[in-house]
Amino acid sequence: MSERTSRLSGFATLSREKRLGILSDWIDEGEGATGALDRLDALPDDLVDRMIENAIGVMPVPLGLATNMIVDGEDVLIPMATEESSVIAAVCNTARRCRSTGGFRTSYAGSLTIAQIQLLDVADPHRARLEILRRADEIRAFCDDIDPVLVELGGGFQDVDVRLLNGRKGTVMVVHLIVDTRDAMGANAVNTMAERLAPVLADWVGGRSLLRILSNLADRRIVRAEAVWPADEIGGPEVVETMLEAADFAVIDPYRAATHNKGIMNGVSAVVLATGNDTRAIEAGAHAFAAQSGQYSPLTRWEKTANGDLAGSIEIPLSLGIVGGATRIHPVAQLALKIMGADSAEKLSRMVAAVGLAQNFGALRALATDGIQKGHMALHAQNIAITAGATGDEIVRIAEAMKASGDINERTATRLLKELRG
Ligand code: NAD
Repeated sequence: MSERTSRLSGFATLSREKRLGILSDWIDEGEGATGALDRLDALPDDLVDRMIENAIGVMPVPLGLATNMIVDGEDVLIPMATEESSVIAAVCNTARRCRSTGGFRTSYAGSLTIAQIQLLDVADPHRARLEILRRADEIRAFCDDIDPVLVELGGGFQDVDVRLLNGRKGTVMVVHLIVDTRDAMGANAVNTMAERLAPVLADWVGGRSLLRILSNLADRRIVRAEAVWPADEIGGPEVVETMLEAADFAVIDPYRAATHNKGIMNGVSAVVLATGNDTRAIEAGAHAFAAQSGQYSPLTRWEKTANGDLAGSIEIPLSLGIVGGATRIHPVAQLALKIMGADSAEKLSRMVAAVGLAQNFGALRALATDGIQKGHMALHAQNIAITAGATGDEIVRIAEAMKASGDINERTATRLLKELRG
């Protein structure tokens, strides 16, 4: 285990150059290790043009570092790509407050990806269902033949399931292929299998196949994380109580649960984006999972331990990869994975779940104590100053003046800027 510490006190006050120096030492690959971050403005032209259709530029988003995190006993630094000012600060603060109890402990259910095949116009769906289940070995051979790389890596076809649903014109058969996609998110891998297998299945059962695509409700890829925050690290027993009351609000009310989960995804999506993974897939999976009981619910739970400390836990589906999609071709994504030491989808997923829990703690504590705006607006003040037209040194001066006045808004920034400029 590494003896490195992610407790980088004062990191926020350093210049970007100094931060990159620390990062270089962390990666320990000599000069140029952080080269992907040299250019703030762009990806290489030819890569941009190859990644998407009709490319006209890039949309840069700041990349920051979550410090102080301990995940499964290891100090880790976690890159996060986000445009929202307070997100990374909240994770760093939260992670610092649970270091004394060992940080975050996680578990990983595996990398099982589900592909769906929709079968219509089957005369006898119950008999057809059993036919498909009986021929599971043929399905295994068919799917594994399509992606032998997955099989070599210990993955590939694992199981088949058949569901019968009531559709507009009668029973719809839905076949689930369950495939271990190892270190890949797996969408392309399982979509290819589903597309090729669909006509074979339709032929077996005398129907017709229509949709053939993975499900983003990745409930076979659940990742769990938990941590304990000592009461005296977070403001005492009263803060524990108010945070529990605040958390309970999300349990009983979907209007609150949506915002609660959005806060979790502030952290999750930022790491997902930084590592070149598919943010939409992760968001869709998380929200569908949150609604699985029939009531949209929080992805985290909060309790008081026997000692009166605050215990938090998260369960979230995470279809993440360290190969495939953009993860291998995007230079910043590659660097992000290297910084995290994420040499498997499993390791990456464990860290992402921990960040989701940390982010939720940060939001709950702020909401239950000072209110979210105090910290958020203080960090957002410089953005408001820029919006009002401040440049150079003016930005910090206007932001500080706004913070001192307690009025952090564009109108105040405009007035202060006018005064400053005489
Ligand atoms: P991919 O096809 O680019 O890579 C996966 C392949 O890499 C595997 O099939 C395997 O053959 C190979 N591979 C090599 N080393 C591997 C390892 N260690 N572990 C696993 N596989 C290894 O990518 P993918 O992960 O199949 O698909 C991800 C992409 O699909 C993302 O870009 C995503 O945005 C996109 N996508 C998403 C959806 C959706 O979420 N609904 C739909 C379509 C496409």
